Amino acid sequence: MSEAVGGLVSLEDIPGVGPSTAEKLRNAGYTTVEEIAVASPIEISAATEISENTAAKIIVAARKLANVGDFETGDKVFERRQNVSKITTGSGELDRLLGGGIETQAITEFYGEYGSGKSQLCFQLAVNVQLPVSEGGLDGSVIIIDTEGTFRPERIAQMAEAKGLDPMEVLKNIHVARAYNSSHQMLLVDKAKEVAKKMKNNGKPVRLLIVDSLTSHFRAEYVGRGTLAERQQRLNKHLHDLIKFSEIFNAAIVVTNQVMAKPESHFYDSTAPVGGHVVAHTATFRVYLRKTKGDLRIARLVDSPCLPEAEAMFKITERGIEDGRK
Ligand code: ATP
Ligand code: MG
Repeated sequence: MSEAVGGLVSLEDIPGVGPSTAEKLRNAGYTTVEEIAVASPIEISAATEISENTAAKIIVAARKLANVGDFETGDKVFERRQNVSKITTGSGELDRLLGGGIETQAITEFYGEYGSGKSQLCFQLAVNVQLPVSEGGLDGSVIIIDTEGTFRPERIAQMAEAKGLDPMEVLKNIHVARAYNSSHQMLLVDKAKEVAKKMKNNGKPVRLLIVDSLTSHFRAEYVGRGTLAERQQRLNKHLHDLIKFSEIFNAAIVVTNQVMAKPESHFYDSTAPVGGHVVAHTATFRVYLRKTKGDLRIARLVDSPCLPEAEAMFKITERGIEDGRK
């Protein structure tokens, strides 16, 4: 991987940026070297007290450091893709729908109505990622960004026990933080990098990052038409931070997105997930979940770059996520 450290350097590492300049940049919302690398001098100078000339120099230095916008040769991409691994969902049918499970170096979005099983899937994956590779896991630990206060350790313990794991050990490998607003949520991705960096050589490496839910704060904070562009822009940045995380740590990213069924609609296609195009273009796998009879759920894979649109059935039981048809 080329310069995987990109996301882990601080603004002060940019030649010519001292603590006070770094602070000005941060106050204006430029928190990473990458953001500066892709900014324009006019934009930075307008947002800070830094002159355009100085801003231009900072950008050039940031570009060298961040290594963004570089071309890679196909073999490098191929090499990185060789490391893509998969986490089982607990349901063989759902795994097959996804091409073998939840992929690392990608974002998987589960969207659906309340109670469709988005959070249950997240909990199950937080357990399953800890399993050995031979059992569909990655022998890894997990970071959960909880935006709605719906993290339930008791439920995870129940799922862990069903897998024959020690619930307390499983919970120890889950790093969870409650995000209080969208800015905090975005900041937590940086914190997640710090945690993952520590864990890399110390304990189980982080192989899964969950954001449950990706969109609730954004939806609540940006109401009205006028704010839509800003919301999409920030969501876009957030998603790119997540992608970066997935590449640096060869981790899977799982995000949820609640959709509300429109009363006039008769069919699932008419429910539109929040974030629209931005999430659609950035998430690699989008899975629409819907309730059917009792504990049964139907998952539909929607526009994947390499897999056909298809459906799978699974169920949510006391033991967790299981195959639906047995
Ligand atoms: P929201 O949009 O409100 O966050 P969600 O899609 O995250 O909804 P989940 O919390 O994943 O919804 O799903 C809740 C459903 O999971 C419950 O309605 C129930 O059917 C099932 N469920 C939760 N806990 C258990 C359990 N211990 N045993 C069996 N089924 C359970
Ligand atoms: Mg939920």
